[in-house]
Amino acid sequence: MKTILVAEDNVVNRELIREMLEAWGFRVLEATDGEHAFATIKAERPDLVLMDIQMPREDGVSVLRRLRLDAKLAAIPVLALTAYAMRGDSDKALAAGFNAYITKPIDMPSLHREITRQLEVISCQAAN
Ligand code: MN
Repeated sequence: MKTILVAEDNVVNRELIREMLEAWGFRVLEATDGEHAFATIKAERPDLVLMDIQMPREDGVSVLRRLRLDAKLAAIPVLALTAYAMRGDSDKALAAGFNAYITKPIDMPSLHREITRQLEVISCQAAN
């Protein structure tokens, strides 16, 4: 069973995402702010992270930068979650190093496709 961390300060969004992920067969961890997210990733090494950009204590971009600097954590796929559907934000998230970008409100079929795609990329790399 693959483990996914949901780092999201909004309780409604977090619960919604958790329910979907569990229905899809994933084990779910939760973090409610950026510092908590980094500590959980370091301790638990999830297979994938869904990271809200706007979080208290430390934002998602800052957490991502710290992950990418840590050799043991750098390869974990991290998908950005953001409320901003503005043109150009996708490019900014990718430039910051996120593997992909999911816009809120979340389209669940798209989220499922993207998670599956990212986990497949990782298992292909591991097989090489
Ligand atoms: Mn937020």
